[in-house]
Amino acid sequence: MHKTQPKIFLVGETTAVEEGINDFLKHIGAPDWKTDAPSDSEKIEEIMGRLCYRSFGAGLNPNVKRVREGNRTYLQNVVAVKHGSVLEHTVVNFIFADVSRVLTHELVRHRAGTAISQESLRFVRLDDLGQWLPTVIREDEQATEIFVKTFEQLEELQLQLAEHFDLDGEKMPFAQKKIITSAMRRIAPIGLSTSIGWSANMRALRHLIEMRTEPVAEEEIRLVFGQVAEICQRRYPNIFADYEIEMVEGLPWYRTVNRKV
Ligand SMILES: Cc1cc2nc3c(=O)[nH]c(=O)nc-3n(C[C@H](O)[C@H](O)[C@H](O)COP(=O)(O)OP(=O)(O)OC[C@H]3O[C@@H](n4cnc5c(N)ncnc54)[C@H](O)[C@@H]3O)c2cc1C
Repeated sequence: MHKTQPKIFLVGETTAVEEGINDFLKHIGAPDWKTDAPSDSEKIEEIMGRLCYRSFGAGLNPNVKRVREGNRTYLQNVVAVKHGSVLEHTVVNFIFADVSRVLTHELVRHRAGTAISQESLRFVRLDDLGQWLPTVIREDEQATEIFVKTFEQLEELQLQLAEHFDLDGEKMPFAQKKIITSAMRRIAPIGLSTSIGWSANMRALRHLIEMRTEPVAEEEIRLVFGQVAEICQRRYPNIFADYEIEMVEGLPWYRTVNRKV
């Protein structure tokens, strides 16, 4: 058994293809259009949004006499008027490591605009359980002792069963190993540390940050989404410009008047 701490890895994001953007701008008659977008993601979302009214400049569409200047102004208007579909064009890829199955089960309830790859406990052996303790347990010596002892006992049972079935024996067929490993996980605790690959478009990301940093959410997912929000606000400042942070019980609550765009 070992102690863990949830970790957030940003492993990918949408990138712009400048050649294609320039060709499109020429095609639409706005070859000189420029943006001050701080990231490719924000650039792509601005282009997708402006495409709707051809608002790359005044007069390009005779119905449009004035256009909003600046990426932040543009995207924050998209957010304010709840044209959230524009934010679906770009995606961020995260890996959450050493998070519990409690967290992953809550996370996968969010379906719209996400992609998920979860560590398989049919394949991965639980011979060294990772444990992160919520504050209410961590701050209570007796409760901590019970948690640690229970994890140690459950880990011991995994080792006993592995020996009982001779899981590491040379003659053990891989398919059978999988069946046994899968059966053994049924007596593992849902608080065990595992990992999940999680990707989401910007619209879904905003929704999750709002729901999962709220003080009513569970501590672990608040902790993870507080860090996700911090990364997103730093990396895509114009998409997340409208959030205000309030600290509640040591964790950030990202609040906005533009909920669920
Ligand atoms: C504090 C908290 C406590 C919770 N407690 C419980 C609990 O006790 N038990 C429980 O079962 N769940 C619980 N949940 C989970 C919650 O009920 C939702 O399932 C979860 O938050 C996913 O959010 P979502 O419904 O917005 O779905 P998402 O997949 O995040 O979808 C985003 C939005 O897209 C739209 N959408 C998505 N799918 C559809 C669809 N099929 N049809 C129409 N519109 C759609 C909806 O507008 C939705 O809000 C809890 C969540 C929180 C934050």
